[in-house]
Amino acid sequence: MLALFDLDGTLVDRRAVFGDAVADLCRAHAFGPAVEQWLLTELADRANPDDFARLRTAFDLEEPAAELWQEYVGLMAAAVTCRPTVLEGLARLRTAAWTVGVITNGAADIQRAKLAATGIAELVDGIAVSGDLEIRKPDQRLFELAAARCGLDLSDGGWMIGDNPAGDIGGGHQAGLRTIWLRGRPWPDGLRAAHHIVDDVTDAITILLNETE
Ligand SMILES: [Mg+2]
Repeated sequence: MLALFDLDGTLVDRRAVFGDAVADLCRAHAFGPAVEQWLLTELADRANPDDFARLRTAFDLEEPAAELWQEYVGLMAAAVTCRPTVLEGLARLRTAAWTVGVITNGAADIQRAKLAATGIAELVDGIAVSGDLEIRKPDQRLFELAAARCGLDLSDGGWMIGDNPAGDIGGGHQAGLRTIWLRGRPWPDGLRAAHHIVDDVTDAITILLNETE
């Protein structure tokens, strides 16, 4: 059975390291508080190379945008971690014959750098990053890609686990998957409820393991 996991806010805590990564970048270039605040605001949910082109224009910076982006990718990849209990959970799922994939919205290079640095990449069967295709969750085509990269088909069923109500849970339902929501964000009016609601991804993994017993 297929289990697709979101990355940021689900398998890893991006917010816990984001502020430090931005601060480190600003310190390395002697950028002032205005630049730091701009980055904290504009990159709060997600960062793309284009953001650094906009930053460069807004503050008339000398550094090439591509260079700043690469530094940011390196800082985030070095800082973000996946808890050992989560990594162990992913390994247990595969031992229990689950096929495990990651489906994430974001730029391909930063998402893949984080997946490699945290050790998640080597514990999953397939990865679909929205930046690969310019298709984002909840678009069903990204779910189809994720399943295909895991060697499966959405028509075989499966589960989607994530923290974003519309992207992860709404998208998961559209893709015909059962869903587990990591609570935290506001739940939009009218969105169909998730099959399970948990506080931590390890609780979601426990639910999935119980499915196979
Ligand atoms: Mg997320």
